[in-house]
Order: sequence, then C-alpha cells, then structure tokens
Amino acid sequence: MDQHQVISWLLEMADKQFVEFFYEAVADRDTSEIEGENGHFVIAETSMIPGEQRNTVFLALPDPTEYITWSEESPICQTGQCPECEAWVRSIAKHAICPLCNARVYCT
Ligand SMILES: [Zn+2]
Repeated sequence: MDQHQVISWLLEMADKQFVEFFYEAVADRDTSEIEGENGHFVIAETSMIPGEQRNTVFLALPDPTEYITWSEESPICQTGQCPECEAWVRSIAKHAICPLCNARVYCT
C-alpha cells in the first residue's frame, strides 16, 4: 500500500476506529530521550470558538475492564478530567483510561 492508499484507508475510518488504530500503531514507540522517562505519543482533539480560549482534550480508549465491545460508529462524546494528572480526556465510554498516565477516568 502506498501513502495515498493508506491516507484513503484512514479517511474511511470512523473516529472510534481511527483512535483505536492510532493507539495500536504507536503502542511500541518510545519517544523518551532519557532512560526511564516513559515518553509516548497521544492523540488529541482541539477546537476554538473565535475570541475564546482553545478547548483541547486528549482522546482516550475505553477502560477494558468495564466494557467488551462497541459499535464502530460510537461517537467520541464522553468527557472527564483525569484524577491523577488532571488532563481533560474524551472517549466513547464513561469509563476510560487516561492516555497520558494510564489512570482510570470517569467521563460524562
Ligand atoms: Zn492522567
């Protein structure tokens, strides 16, 4: 598959599928420059209404201990704040895993 075919394939994915694909694709990438740093890639969503502060959330996967399967068309619409690192996250599920620190996050 060449780059254009890959991009076409990615464009056909629902948002839920794209987020799952992203985290699976980068799971073994270590971006740390210092040993023990535990750096890794995450995916985020940002938006801004003109004249207002930008709203940025990190996209999170559902907590696998709470759920088994989801519809591929499930919207990413549940938002919560991580109790450990205080990052704002958004997921398809009310129970999610913070992509920054792996803590469990409850979203509404
Ligand atoms: Zn966190």
